[in-house]
Amino acid sequence: MTLKPSSSKTMSSKPMNSRPATNKPAFTKPVAKIAPKSLSKLKDEICDIGRRIYNKGFAAGNDGNISMRLGPNEVLCTPTMVSKGFMKPSDLCIVDMEGNQISGSRKRSSEILLHLTIMKERSDVNSVVHCHPPHATAFAVAREPIPQCVLPEVEVFLGDVPITRYETPGSQKFADTVKPFVKNSNVLILANHGTVSCGETIEKAYWWTEILDAYCRILMLAKDLGRVTYFTAQEERELLDLKQKWGYSDPRLDKSMENCDICANDVFRSSWGQTGVTRKAFDAPPAMGVASLPTAASPDYDTIVKAVTEQVCKELGISAA
Ligand SMILES: [Zn+2]
Repeated sequence: MTLKPSSSKTMSSKPMNSRPATNKPAFTKPVAKIAPKSLSKLKDEICDIGRRIYNKGFAAGNDGNISMRLGPNEVLCTPTMVSKGFMKPSDLCIVDMEGNQISGSRKRSSEILLHLTIMKERSDVNSVVHCHPPHATAFAVAREPIPQCVLPEVEVFLGDVPITRYETPGSQKFADTVKPFVKNSNVLILANHGTVSCGETIEKAYWWTEILDAYCRILMLAKDLGRVTYFTAQEERELLDLKQKWGYSDPRLDKSMENCDICANDVFRSSWGQTGVTRKAFDAPPAMGVASLPTAASPDYDTIVKAVTEQVCKELGISAA
């Protein structure tokens, strides 16, 4: 995916964002209505995304579930115990906003409450995708926060990605774990479970999961190679300026965050204590302003290290050679 938005109309919906829980929620306005489609077309779209999830390895066995809002009290969703790679339109179910099945011969997904909770919290959301993409789920298992300021697309389309508190899947208690975050992010990592993402269309809801898992994979590969290079404050600022220009908002553009670190100040950090998230595998991105300081790769850095070493040796009365 390129960073160029497909159209200004698409951008006007401001689909990607994240904001501190203490601030005004990022998603408050319903987006413009999407063109009505026939039920059979919508069923085809769900089956198509199901195949993509399965083919990407995001849903083993009968894992994963997908939903689409049909009206104020009707949601189309995937059935339980069916592989998402081989679903037929006739397998799909319709439920009301409380999860009661209205139609469909197969039993609706056991995770429907998760989808409905997101739709209730976000009037702009028409589709929800839940699955278990391995790389993002590895972060969910490690409870490792997703580092920011590494890839341009991730900065623009995802922003900071939260990790929820763990609960046994299927219950309303589990569904409620997304509530503190879903108004501020379109993609969430579910602790020791998987991911859930949402959007005004099913395609976008799926994209955020795909982008997140690709990002998590790249992070792990780069770490294996030995290091992850973070953007400087200036580089990140340029991305955030682009993001703003395209109509996306971001908490780091917020006046209240003006004097905060662009990269090191995780928007969802306040939730880490509750969700058991701690930074272990990846270093914290450099603090804002570090960009202007010498780095390990620059000659100035070596000069400073040499000067400090010489001074310390002098104090200790030994040779610095
Ligand atoms: Zn699941």
